[in-house]
Amino acid sequence: MDTNVFIVLLLFAGVMLRVVLIGLVAWFIVPRRKVCPHCHAGTMALVTSPVLGRLRLQRRWCVCGWSGLSKRIPVVARDRESGVPAPFVFAMMTVGFSTACAPPDDPVRQLFTESERWVDLTHAFDENAVYWPTARPFALDTVSWGMTDGGYFYSAFNFTAAEHGGTHLDAPIHFAEGRQAAHEIPLDRLIGPAVVVDVSARVGDNADYLVSVEDLEAFEDEHGRIPDGSILLLDTGWGRRWSDPEAYLGTTMTGPEAVSQLHFPGLDPDAARWLVEQRAIAAIGIDTPSIDSGQSTTFESHRILYEQNIPGFENVANLESMPVTGGYVVALPMKIRGGSGGPLRIVGAR
Ligand SMILES: [Zn+2]
Ligand SMILES: [Zn+2]
Repeated sequence: MDTNVFIVLLLFAGVMLRVVLIGLVAWFIVPRRKVCPHCHAGTMALVTSPVLGRLRLQRRWCVCGWSGLSKRIPVVARDRESGVPAPFVFAMMTVGFSTACAPPDDPVRQLFTESERWVDLTHAFDENAVYWPTARPFALDTVSWGMTDGGYFYSAFNFTAAEHGGTHLDAPIHFAEGRQAAHEIPLDRLIGPAVVVDVSARVGDNADYLVSVEDLEAFEDEHGRIPDGSILLLDTGWGRRWSDPEAYLGTTMTGPEAVSQLHFPGLDPDAARWLVEQRAIAAIGIDTPSIDSGQSTTFESHRILYEQNIPGFENVANLESMPVTGGYVVALPMKIRGGSGGPLRIVGAR
């Protein structure tokens, strides 16, 4: 044989060997994909080419939009034997997919699978929970506690409290006749994206601080416009004083004469007006006992916001744990029919 021909054949064999090796490695890398990378449910084989068939590979797809290469998965013999028409099997499988298979980065799905991202924004209700000086505080009375005659443990309590105390809802009807009561507030005002305006550095120890239009504008200069439909949370830093009622409320007195002694930050009525006229927030929350400051006697911010059916959340906790933007809030109050407010469990996701 000619030396040149021999060298060419040798080179050709070398190339072919590499192609076969790469092919083998690739074949081993391709997984057997009954489940697509984003879904919990099965995938469907597409009509496949004879070449892929020889290689025992096939293209598969999922209703979430994924399609890709997979090692061939034999058709389950049962389907053939049962004589069920193929379109019926296909339809059944599609139904199966659409309930179990979600798009790759569904934010709601992520929210509920990554539970470490949840933050509790609620103070626990106990005898120390802060209530308005004229309101009935929270009380838990024991109905039953201990072993029963039946040999099992049983506990039950009665609780009493005013609507407005602890971490709670202000329904719009609290200060605006004809506006929504607690049971009428649409869920999309209670659940949604949140924006946290941190004014704690400006507030400092000033118990009569009013969150101003300038504060909101300064926030927007840095973080962008407060999005329509968002839940606006005001972090005055006051929430950290919760366990010290005198520092939190300004007084430990109760009764009507205590009201004039209240000192805590609130929202400037001009800022409330700016919010309803210039922006479209779903709800507002604050880490003090009231949307209006302790020294307010006219409760103007309450009246301006609630007139527009914007509910309020008061005594909100742990706002410093929430991101400034990109967070999410679920605020579900007790559904008191006709109520002007009520105990609120509010949580945030970050
Ligand atoms: Zn209230
Ligand atoms: Zn209020």
